[in-house]
Amino acid sequence: MSFAVNPPPAVRHFPLSRSTVVRSPRVSMVARSNTGLSVSTAAALPILTKLQNDCATPLPVLRHIADAMATDMRAGLAVDGGSDLKMILSYVDSLPTGNERGLFYALDLGGTNFRVLRTQLGGKDERVIDTECEQVSIPQDIMFGTSEELFDFIASALANFVKKEGGKFVLPNDRSRETGFTFSFPVKQTSIDSGILIKWTKGFAVSGTPGKDIVACLNEAMGRQGLNMRVSALVNDTVATLAGARYWDDDVMVAVILGTGTNACYVESVDAIPKLKNHKSSSGKTIVNTEWGAFSNGLPLTEFDRDMDAVSINPGEQLFEKTISGMYLGEIVRRVLVKMAEASSLFGNHIPERLRTPFTLGTPNISSMQQDTSDDLQAVGSILYEVTGMESTLDARKMVVEVCDTVAKRGGRLAGAGIVGILKKMEEDSTGIVFGKRTVVAMDGGLYEHHPQYKRYLKDAVKELLGPEISSDVVIEHSKDGSGIGAALLAATNSIYEH
Ligand code: ADP
Ligand code: MG
Repeated sequence: MSFAVNPPPAVRHFPLSRSTVVRSPRVSMVARSNTGLSVSTAAALPILTKLQNDCATPLPVLRHIADAMATDMRAGLAVDGGSDLKMILSYVDSLPTGNERGLFYALDLGGTNFRVLRTQLGGKDERVIDTECEQVSIPQDIMFGTSEELFDFIASALANFVKKEGGKFVLPNDRSRETGFTFSFPVKQTSIDSGILIKWTKGFAVSGTPGKDIVACLNEAMGRQGLNMRVSALVNDTVATLAGARYWDDDVMVAVILGTGTNACYVESVDAIPKLKNHKSSSGKTIVNTEWGAFSNGLPLTEFDRDMDAVSINPGEQLFEKTISGMYLGEIVRRVLVKMAEASSLFGNHIPERLRTPFTLGTPNISSMQQDTSDDLQAVGSILYEVTGMESTLDARKMVVEVCDTVAKRGGRLAGAGIVGILKKMEEDSTGIVFGKRTVVAMDGGLYEHHPQYKRYLKDAVKELLGPEISSDVVIEHSKDGSGIGAALLAATNSIYEH
């Protein structure tokens, strides 16, 4: 349905049912221009055409992005602050092998919910014997309270969860419980089991934590709860995803999260990290958290991206994230639609207030509209009406779908180029490490999981960049919720009882 190139037939009657939700547009009454589009729609066409041009990601652009990603990675590894990419050391030097045994916990704090999990591991033969998981939502007053209140709340929920331990979960008498701690806020990691909180994000405004070691904060709170548990591994969600995927598949080398935000981590040689001083890794490898959301070099940006960025809480920052991740795709589309609505009577003469409200249109809405294969785009009409209050003609809906596709396509293809950048960097430093043999990129996050076109665009870009031969060995695989078990597995690989 390439709209700009192949206009739909000039006059067509669309049998739209007069449902209560979508009022039937007056399609047959509308004057037509010589493009075949209604006059009202035609005025929005130049906006679409410009958007498509500005968002275009032909092969040379993708190549540039992949090369720039590799270059920025190296600069970030050379020295702290050397590039947009922080290239944070995770201190995770050994990944799960499958031999892990015993009872391990995981704690995941990364948003308004936190999750606790326990798993009983039975080594290569029995693998994961059992897993239990609970989710607790964090009350508003705790999100705006003191550090002690937050960590007491977490430790108390954890203590309650521990009390229900039984069944197949067994802890040897002479051992303390151990947990992995997935903490998805900016942390300056100081060792595998310590890290200083730089600042709270995502709506948290807890006083007294920034500048402190969050593992110490948690340990103190667990002490106050009388809970005998040790944090063996403090990790970011990307690192936990890599660990969770590696447990099942030795060829996993990279993990990428595409959810509300985005990030990627990969297996790096200690020798390739000049800024890493006095660090002993028995494997010679370590996981590096790229924080690639901050990448910005050569991105194809539009006026809509620039406007969205300018009014964001972090202008000029996280530009890759703002171009490819779930928090922003819907908002970019909304901004395009506002401009179209102002420039034409595409959506009638009245622009509903809801369309003017930032972030009303979510990326799940974009994805749903792209799944509508009906002739009359009934679902697109319903979503537009329900979410933004806009009524739409069939031409308008087609235009909207094109806008969604343009923004999702750019996002997916840029994400694919980013992945190739990481793979190329690894291969250039150590020929044969990823190309010419099976290499797995573990993917997780709601955007990757639930947006089929985005996923296809991502994979297409990887294929285009690597060519058919090399790309046939690169497996891009969804690792659903691998991060929960991944953190427990990292608690196991970093257990004090294993050393
Ligand atoms: P988080 O990144 O917050 O940890 P998730 O990985 O579950 O959480 O991702 C949630 C995000 O995924 C949402 O904010 C949304 O942007 C995106 N998402 C969820 N469902 C869909 C969908 N159907 N289509 C496209 N994107 C979706
Ligand atoms: Mg997540």
